[in-house]
Amino acid sequence: MQPFTYVRAQSLNEALQQAAQPGAAILAGGTTMIDLMRGDLAAPSSLVDIGHLPELATIDTDGPVLRFGALVRMADAAENPTLLRDYPALPESLQQAASQQLRNAATLGGNILQRTRCPYFRNGVSACNKRVPNSGCSALDGEDREMALFGTSDLCVANYPGDWGTALAAFDTDVEISSATGRRTVPFADFHLPYGDDPVVETVLRPGEIVTAITVQATPLGRKSTYLKVRDRQSYAYALVSATVALEMDGDHVRAARVSLGGVASRPWRAPEAEAALVGRQLTQATALEAGDAAFVGARPLRQNAFKVELGRRVVARAALLASRRI
Ligand SMILES: Cc1cc2nc3c(=O)[nH]c(=O)nc-3n(C[C@H](O)[C@H](O)[C@H](O)COP(=O)(O)OP(=O)(O)OC[C@H]3O[C@@H](n4cnc5c(N)ncnc54)[C@H](O)[C@@H]3O)c2cc1C
Ligand code: SF4
Repeated sequence: MQPFTYVRAQSLNEALQQAAQPGAAILAGGTTMIDLMRGDLAAPSSLVDIGHLPELATIDTDGPVLRFGALVRMADAAENPTLLRDYPALPESLQQAASQQLRNAATLGGNILQRTRCPYFRNGVSACNKRVPNSGCSALDGEDREMALFGTSDLCVANYPGDWGTALAAFDTDVEISSATGRRTVPFADFHLPYGDDPVVETVLRPGEIVTAITVQATPLGRKSTYLKVRDRQSYAYALVSATVALEMDGDHVRAARVSLGGVASRPWRAPEAEAALVGRQLTQATALEAGDAAFVGARPLRQNAFKVELGRRVVARAALLASRRI
């Protein structure tokens, strides 16, 4: 680990001033950041600890917009009674992420900013364009079972690993961002960048900026929603495939639908083709499977991960049926 200075911010203003210094990085719950620094995958000259700012640690579920402060602990959002009743997909995505100990420390803002778990990125020595630009991609000739099917490029095929981000992608979500020079709001759909020519840059966050909150438009789609995650172990594992489905039903017909996918894409992935396959139709096992088929049109499997297409089709279908049965 490289030497660094540590600053525990006492106010958001102080955090923004400190974050503006060259080489500064943000520390929230630290469950990802400390690992990255230990592996020399991040080497900030100063670490600005924002983890003790109460104004960023509240959830507001009243009114037309749900507001999650960036420092809300994953465990707290996972147990929020209003979310469990009106937006079950959101807390379910958190309940199935990491472990209870990690969720007690990790924050919602840190969760959307976690970096890939691609082993070639994390081991610190393999060729990896995401770690060292233009060094190559070891996954292209190596193990690619857990890599992505969507949003990949010739330079990088890594998955975005987060569960919460996958669930957020199914809703109308925005990210509130502050810096020493002002504030801005970015649609969550634009927050994570396509890999393009530079897979190192993963989000629109600029140096010195801090995510202060995540907002979700209140919607009747939330009630009949679910997050279904399939993984190698039943706990403490990232998704092989996951799906969020949120439905508005008219009897047994689908009036409106939202579908997003996890474990299969370079960033939180909305599946509008699956939504179109559901809307206006009676929801049966057959239509649910058609939506699953539609979700994976355009998938680009690698050597070892084509199994995710059939698995994902079934995950989407099952999630749609489970969501429709919510009261
Ligand atoms: C063993 C293990 C298993 C895990 N399993 C899962 C899983 O199954 N599903 C899942 O979704 N996640 C999983 N995680 C990831 C975990 O959820 C994240 O580490 C956590 O959410 C990150 O939050 P944090 O507050 O600890 O962020 P930190 O580690 O403090 O920060 C993470 C990154 O975000 C930046 N950052 C944090 N907050 C802000 C902010 N407000 N503004 C700007 N930048 C910020 C930091 O600079 C850093 O780059 C796992 C982690 C571990 C270690
Ligand atoms: S898939 Fe991406 S993160 Fe993994 S080795 Fe290739 S470039 Fe690096």
